[in-house]
Amino acid sequence: MEDSYKHKGMRRSLVRVLKEKGITNQQVLDAIGKIPRHYFFDNALVGHAYQDKAFPIGEGQTISQPYTVAFQSEKLEVQPGDKVLEVGTGSGYQASVLMEMGAEVHTIEYNKNLYERTRKFLPKMGYSPKFYFGDGSQGLPKQAPFDKIIVTAGAPSVPTALINQLKIDGILIIPVGDSQKQKMLRIIKKEDKKIKKETFDYFSFVPLLGEQGWKN
Ligand code: SAM
Repeated sequence: MEDSYKHKGMRRSLVRVLKEKGITNQQVLDAIGKIPRHYFFDNALVGHAYQDKAFPIGEGQTISQPYTVAFQSEKLEVQPGDKVLEVGTGSGYQASVLMEMGAEVHTIEYNKNLYERTRKFLPKMGYSPKFYFGDGSQGLPKQAPFDKIIVTAGAPSVPTALINQLKIDGILIIPVGDSQKQKMLRIIKKEDKKIKKETFDYFSFVPLLGEQGWKN
């Protein structure tokens, strides 16, 4: 598959759509303008890659909607060199956006097949985050603390393990709610026992499974 002028044009249109929806962070817009999202799709769905929609990636999971990726990335306020934990590797698209923003990305996936697939695929795209297989609802204690943590699956509540694994002034962005829709929360760790919590709009994610997620 190639990255043609047509694809580049569709990416520019997608970036315009994201700006119209309120995304202003230039690093986020540049990353989405650069990464060939169609490479993350199965052949049958490739024509839909530049719509602002989530799509199936197999194993009952999805590649998140570009607006959702952009929104979470913007609220994470990624600085070059930030050590970022992503819970829910999925297709690897979100991880590549974070890497384009200059983050050192650690990404964990609970589904073995997706973990194997993305671990092989993403380096071929030029992105080599650190990949982990396991239950990210408990974070990644051996690699903690993190500057930023992004959860890309819907949680029933905020896992305390994730707050514990943030540095002071670190940011956690996580959708929390029921199985249909979740409110996006941003938690900034001010001191060891003090956090600032902000609430944004509703989104719709596949469930965060595991010890501090939904029980499967
Ligand atoms: N960030 C992904 C992307 O860019 O394609 C989209 C992620 S998809 C919406 C959510 C992912 O979270 C799924 O791949 C799912 O298997 C994974 N997941 C669910 N519970 C998890 C857990 N406890 N730990 C790690 N990954 C989990």
